[in-house]
Amino acid sequence: MTEPAFTVSRPTPLARSVLRPIRELPDELISQIAAGEVIERPASVVRELVDNALDAGATEVSVRLSAGGVRAIVIEDDGAGIPGRELPLALRRHATSKIASLGELENVATMGFRGEALAAIGAIAELAITSRTRDAPHATRIDARSGELAPAARAFGTTVEVRELFFSTPARRKFLKTDATELAHCVEVLRRHALARPDVGFALWHEGKLILQWRRTTLDARVQEVLGQEFMAASRGFDATSGGVRIEGRVGLPDAARARADQQYVYVNGRYVRDRLIAHGARTAYEDVLHGGRQPSYLLYIDITPDRVDVNVHPTKIEVRFRDAREMHQAVRHAVQDALALPRAEAPTALGPFEPTAPAIWNPLPMGSQAGLGLGVAEPAAEWPPHAHEAASQETVLLDLDTGQTHAAPPHDPEAWPLGRALAQLGGAYVLAENSQGLVIVDMHAAHERVVYERLKASMAATAQVDAQPLLIPLSFAATPAEMATAEEQARTLQRLGLELTPLGPSALALRSHPAALADADLVALARAVLAELAAYDASQVLQRAQHELLATMACHGAVRANRRLTVEEMNALLRDMERTERADQCNHGRPTWRQLTLRELDTLFLRGR
Ligand code: ADP
Ligand code: MG
Repeated sequence: MTEPAFTVSRPTPLARSVLRPIRELPDELISQIAAGEVIERPASVVRELVDNALDAGATEVSVRLSAGGVRAIVIEDDGAGIPGRELPLALRRHATSKIASLGELENVATMGFRGEALAAIGAIAELAITSRTRDAPHATRIDARSGELAPAARAFGTTVEVRELFFSTPARRKFLKTDATELAHCVEVLRRHALARPDVGFALWHEGKLILQWRRTTLDARVQEVLGQEFMAASRGFDATSGGVRIEGRVGLPDAARARADQQYVYVNGRYVRDRLIAHGARTAYEDVLHGGRQPSYLLYIDITPDRVDVNVHPTKIEVRFRDAREMHQAVRHAVQDALALPRAEAPTALGPFEPTAPAIWNPLPMGSQAGLGLGVAEPAAEWPPHAHEAASQETVLLDLDTGQTHAAPPHDPEAWPLGRALAQLGGAYVLAENSQGLVIVDMHAAHERVVYERLKASMAATAQVDAQPLLIPLSFAATPAEMATAEEQARTLQRLGLELTPLGPSALALRSHPAALADADLVALARAVLAELAAYDASQVLQRAQHELLATMACHGAVRANRRLTVEEMNALLRDMERTERADQCNHGRPTWRQLTLRELDTLFLRGR
């Protein structure tokens, strides 16, 4: 070991190499460098050229590719065209017809106006444009390399031909993936455009074969064509306006969430964007109903006055900047949240009016059902099959759990109840009910947990604390030193969660109140779970940051356990509670709380033609 390792040859620092005089970069090199920012792969070319076609008012756009777009990209449109004399200008850097002054920068409603796409493409590929305006007697073609103009034959509109992408920059060409992968990227780009512009027809050919074609149509039809019937069925449309922001679109239901974030489409003023602020706003809206790793699907069309958003902050124009980021975040979050909150049961029935086969035996629970299933209701007698409820159904009175007021309920009207009337309990875990469409199967623990959770959240939102109920006889229990410490340090937070805990000597606690919504829970287990969770957080601010987790823990403890036998009244109370509860369709972990099995599906099961 005579030579220290660091004497082996290292790269020579620039300062020690021979210094060369400062020079302006040649134009061609500038263009190539700039091109690198805009054009990463064939799909970037497709995006820029389709942007241009749409800006030119095209109603039909066709894209022909060869070798995934690396060998050739030919895009034709029926837009306004470029006057022959302006063709040389269109190819120059910072040449655009879309903005004339700085003042206009704020109000541009086009796809972008950086004026560099064609120049960039021309710098890294063979480029030719053939175009004809409405008033031109013939088309004109320009070859970007030679700059030569020649008359050509073409109907109105523009054809842009791009060949041998990156032919002059082989290093970049090496980064390209297989033709199939590049083609897939191009398809995704077209998909994004197609979802933004149902009023424009798109077609894509690869190696002379038609790969996809979307004709001009309505937005709903286009979404269905592009994202599939499956997405339509598992998503919900909405249209929300708040402040100066309008957001419409579709949100995927939590149980249709995906492993990858590959179905999240966001448009700002008609332009596809990928924006972290918006993505975060949407994600937050799903936080209660989605399992951590799952990715929601959504399609958001955001309209905002152009002066409140800057779309030109990024070379590929895929990122935007909002003047009021907070407002945008809130608007997205609320729009998605509200759309998700609509009960799924509101879907119209497919099978027509319900014909009861037996007398309706719905018997609501006016007494003490405020806290929902089994809470404040005496332990039910094991009573099955259900009977003797008919008498009560004549003058049924319904207690509105939200207002505490009673109002008359339509007696024999199972149709009024989207989740139907309870029939039976199955396997200690499921409630079976009959509604106008057929059979409803409810996961009783998951559903009840959701109902309780939303109730806790609602009282937290209304009064900044969970409604508490004092215990006439305090519950005392042995506590660890950690539990003792947490109970003392977080007494205020615990109280806001409806739990009043006081020390009883050095190693015991007394529980003096409990959340009103959780009368039926194992209260000691509940208190211990909340103490354990609180210990994991920082004392201050815990309620702001961990509120939902804490309430979820409490709801889980408060929800009816498996194997608990329910009376028909309790089952019905649960169904009614679910109908009244926002987001009742999913449990706190994003699993469905109920499923519908339609009569038609049952017929199919039994091979019965109807
Ligand atoms: P930008 O789109 O930012 O203006 P481009 O380099 O993409 O810059 O295009 C330069 C100009 O060429 C555009 O402003 C437009 O006037 C014209 N142009 C490009 N493509 C088309 C097209 N398909 N139809 C009509 N005009 C076009
Ligand atoms: Mg452009």
